[in-house]
Amino acid sequence: MSRPKPQPGITNIALYKSGESGIPGVSDVLKLSANESPYGPSEKAKDAFSKTVANLHRYPATDHAGLRAAIAEVHGLDAARIICGVGSDEVLQFITQCYAGPGDEAIYTEHGFSMYPILTHAAGATPVCVAESGRQVDVDKVLAAITGKTRIVFITNPGNPTGTMLEAAELARLARGVPENVLLVLDGAYAEFADGFDGGAALVEAHDNVLMTRTFSKAYGLGGLRIGWGYGPQAIIDVLNRVRQPFNLSPTQLATAEAAVRDRDWLDKVVGNNTRNRAWLVNALRDAGVECDDSHANFVLARFASEDEAAGCDAALRKDGIIVRRVGGYGFPEGLRITVGDESACRRVVHAIVQHKGTL
Ligand SMILES: *Cc1c(COP(=O)(O)O)cnc(C)c1O
Repeated sequence: MSRPKPQPGITNIALYKSGESGIPGVSDVLKLSANESPYGPSEKAKDAFSKTVANLHRYPATDHAGLRAAIAEVHGLDAARIICGVGSDEVLQFITQCYAGPGDEAIYTEHGFSMYPILTHAAGATPVCVAESGRQVDVDKVLAAITGKTRIVFITNPGNPTGTMLEAAELARLARGVPENVLLVLDGAYAEFADGFDGGAALVEAHDNVLMTRTFSKAYGLGGLRIGWGYGPQAIIDVLNRVRQPFNLSPTQLATAEAAVRDRDWLDKVVGNNTRNRAWLVNALRDAGVECDDSHANFVLARFASEDEAAGCDAALRKDGIIVRRVGGYGFPEGLRITVGDESACRRVVHAIVQHKGTL
């Protein structure tokens, strides 16, 4: 029998697994599995959101001029070279759709974001996974993996779920080493949490083949609203805009994101709290005998002695109503990724882990 056939690559896609959000029968759930902000969005963003109710019958602007201008002003960028999407996921989708196809390869790293292979398969291209070294992106290994078929290199910095970072000199060496015909994508979903990091903006300015993606989902506390953006060379942004639906972002998304990016006081507060709580969490986990790298993001990767121990700890946390993220699919069967919550959330999760370890 003949049936409609999907395009090549589509059936290779392993469905994305998101962090769980509930535990059956438990009401007081602490969700630390999806790197969401414990503080939510700023009051100014919420006000802007509410005000859009009056205009929901209107189509949104197709050029996102207001939001792009706000992002450009705050970050010191050229507004003409910003593109906005339904989360940075959509910007990543534009990139793979436009720059990779059957016969092409896209590189991502061992512990990299699972959306990269999903989007690469969706474009009919082949994802190529490159080993990291000690939970860090290894520039030499990435450069060595580039072939004549490579079209895109995806790097998450800071990394998820590792929380580690490529230092500036290494990142610059990578950008210099990637051939001019290959697009280097710097995914800065957690850039706000990394002290003094521009997300790769300066490298975008310096190279004609480097693009940065950013999101409102993490530090801005707007994961539910789906807004992200990219910054790149004009020629590449012009290409991406050809496949972008003209009305991809609603008036609500646009107005809320604009207010959010302009509220620097709120962002500073969120980032400051994260930095403080993250340091406390890392130290407390180490004190409890759990291995943990320094993190530059809003989560930490707790590494246990074995997969069994991680699974046992995860089960014990669930019993206490705490959801963290198993990260076996990211190459860490012995790991649990824990979002940095507010102070009481950090205490609660550490308390539960210490209690559990006491029973072993
Ligand atoms: C959370 C995250 C994103 C952001 O996705 P959105 O679509 O903007 O919500 C992008 N990349 C990585 C690595 C992430 O962890």
